[in-house]
Amino acid sequence: MNNPGKEMLESAQNLIRTVGEKMGYDKSKIDQLITAEMIYEFALPIDKDDGTSEMFIGFRAQHSSVRGPYKGGIRFHQDTTREEVQALATLMSIKTAVANIPMGGGKGGIRVNPKELSESELKQLSKKFAAKLAHVIGQDIDIPAPDVNTNPTIMKWMLEEYEQIHGKKEPAAFTGKSVLNGGSLGRTEATGYGGVIALQELLKRMYPDKQSKMTIAIQGFGNVGYYFAEAAVAEGHKIVAVSDSKGGITGNESADSLDIPLVLECKKKQGSISGCYCAGGVCDTSKGKIISNGDLLELPVDVLVPAALENVINEKNMKNIKAKIIVEMANGPITETARQYLSSKDIVIIPDVLANAGGVIVSYLEWVQGRQGIWWSQKDVMDRLTDIMSTSFADIWNHSKKESLDLKTAAFEVAIQRLISAM
Ligand code: NAD
Repeated sequence: MNNPGKEMLESAQNLIRTVGEKMGYDKSKIDQLITAEMIYEFALPIDKDDGTSEMFIGFRAQHSSVRGPYKGGIRFHQDTTREEVQALATLMSIKTAVANIPMGGGKGGIRVNPKELSESELKQLSKKFAAKLAHVIGQDIDIPAPDVNTNPTIMKWMLEEYEQIHGKKEPAAFTGKSVLNGGSLGRTEATGYGGVIALQELLKRMYPDKQSKMTIAIQGFGNVGYYFAEAAVAEGHKIVAVSDSKGGITGNESADSLDIPLVLECKKKQGSISGCYCAGGVCDTSKGKIISNGDLLELPVDVLVPAALENVINEKNMKNIKAKIIVEMANGPITETARQYLSSKDIVIIPDVLANAGGVIVSYLEWVQGRQGIWWSQKDVMDRLTDIMSTSFADIWNHSKKESLDLKTAAFEVAIQRLISAM
């Protein structure tokens, strides 16, 4: 059976083993690092609205707690497997170590297509999962958050169930809650904004003598792509193309940038970005054109930002990439073969474990606030995010220069060193 989760797990484990061996670590330490501390599999039967019942399987992988409690999202997806969840938990341990926050790596998932369930069925399934998780998670043990197809409402349902079982309030047991329900200001924007903080840190080092204004193309205009665009425009960059699952648009050559809030407004009205152009200049693109997702990746821009799916830059299109900088905002958007090829062509890639760490960093800040019962302003949260992202970037950059490594290898080396030294 085709099992992309298994491939993802093997690829993450192989990379950790290769980097760990090169760094001279004992086999036993590397074995410990690639093995999840715990993986739970839960049977989750629910009663459907039509009187029948259906069984679902849920997973929680707790990969490493040597640096702090496990941290990672819960996804609801029909293709979720035990191996996929384990792979993503492993990468969370690397990401929290890169960000140098006192947390480990975890991930959870239910094998379900949530779009086929009614709201009451979804609530029942979420609460069933939380009831099983309640005995193995907690603010000092493992702190779940939203991921693919889960959201603040689902976190609220899960936290309610968890608190009912334990008979106490414990808001820091889940993050990604809405601000009304104990979430943090700034969480929604965190991943996109964090990516731009990393980009600015890179530009400062690549072009120390000038204020660099870049042309940028962004694939994916969801939470991450939108806030990346917004923050990049605020830094004076020019967004020349954006796309969603149905295709994209490139802007008017003479315009400073696509008008990002207007593109969003138009996407909401039309249902897709490519619909915006057809609506005739609604989003300031009257001299622009519709572009496919594939073509967007090959535009002659300074910075390319894949912010949608994994493996979109691969053996088929790697030779056509013209950008000099790629910011990996999606998880795993560049295949290993393509990464090696692009690095050999001196294309600088800010790796996902660093570029999109803003989300887990603000989740960590939400956890800190929840534990203290103190709520910070948006500015406080953003200042802390900027501080943590900038420091992480500097750590990875300095290591890459010292050891003549690309940024991804440097990030894995720094993370592995931090994890093994905590064992
Ligand atoms: P989202 O669901 O809000 O948006 C995804 C976007 O990708 C949508 O605009 C969708 O139309 C687009 N898309 C889907 N298929 C596409 C295709 N074939 N071509 C082009 N665009 C396509 O998701 P998100 O939260 O923005 O997450 C995007 C990526 O970032 C994912 O890889 C996710 O794992 C990663 N990520 C997200 C966060 C976070 O905090 N949201 C944190 C870390 C990593």
